[in-house]
Amino acid sequence: MSKAPNGLRFRAVAPVAVGLLALCLAGAAAPAGAAGLDAGAAALENRRGLSDLVIEAFHRRDLGWEIYAPLIAREIGAGAGPDTPAFARTLAAWQSVHGLGAGGVVDAATFGAMNMAWLGRRPFVAASRRLCPASPAVASLSPVPAAASYGGKAMLLRPAALAAYGRMLAAARSELAELRRDPRLLTVFSAYRAPDEDAARCLRDGDCQGVTRATCSAHATGLAIDVFLGAAPGFGPDSSADANRLYLSRGGAYRWLVQNAGRFGFTPYAFEPWHWEWTGEQI
Ligand SMILES: [Zn+2]
Repeated sequence: MSKAPNGLRFRAVAPVAVGLLALCLAGAAAPAGAAGLDAGAAALENRRGLSDLVIEAFHRRDLGWEIYAPLIAREIGAGAGPDTPAFARTLAAWQSVHGLGAGGVVDAATFGAMNMAWLGRRPFVAASRRLCPASPAVASLSPVPAAASYGGKAMLLRPAALAAYGRMLAAARSELAELRRDPRLLTVFSAYRAPDEDAARCLRDGDCQGVTRATCSAHATGLAIDVFLGAAPGFGPDSSADANRLYLSRGGAYRWLVQNAGRFGFTPYAFEPWHWEWTGEQI
């Protein structure tokens, strides 16, 4: 994992140098590539990529970026749909600023740069590169209230993270009619998990979630929550099957989180729509 960011950074910087050189030679004033953008063609390519783009950013091979479209739109400040010329133009401006050309198409390099930006906002990711962060003392944690717990499950979180989550849930319940129809939405179904319990569960289930559960999980910090966003028919709420993640990414609860969770100090893990980490406390 430590080599990928460097590689991406290098790839991101190189086109900037090439672009600047081209500008100097041509004496042009416009951002490199932006003037010649065919937004209609880029929109068509984005439409294909929504289901076809090969993504290998998450230790497996996925097809299509639709699952990540809400996060990408948020990142670039696009209000239009992901397969529209307006989205392509907004993306082209973002790419130009980030040294990724200005083609207006979500490609592997652009997705990789965005994923690096998302990872960079998770203090847990930076901390766990050095050493798995120490877990807090269980006695220092607070119980998640029953009204905020999925199915009344007993769970613990660090107090400040729990308070921030409570403010976020109250805001979502007042702003989003969907939550009034289904009060289970955005309730917590996993919070603090003791490292030894995760390791035991990994062995018992034969499911180590890409070994993160067994070795070093963000949930051991007491700052990570999994929230209920619904589930595709036949799947559990935390199924990482593409069909389930796509279903969740299309839901209003997730889209509200993408737009608003940052106000309360929460940042996403792009691969798992249900997983959010609080950034207000040092790890
Ligand atoms: Zn989680």
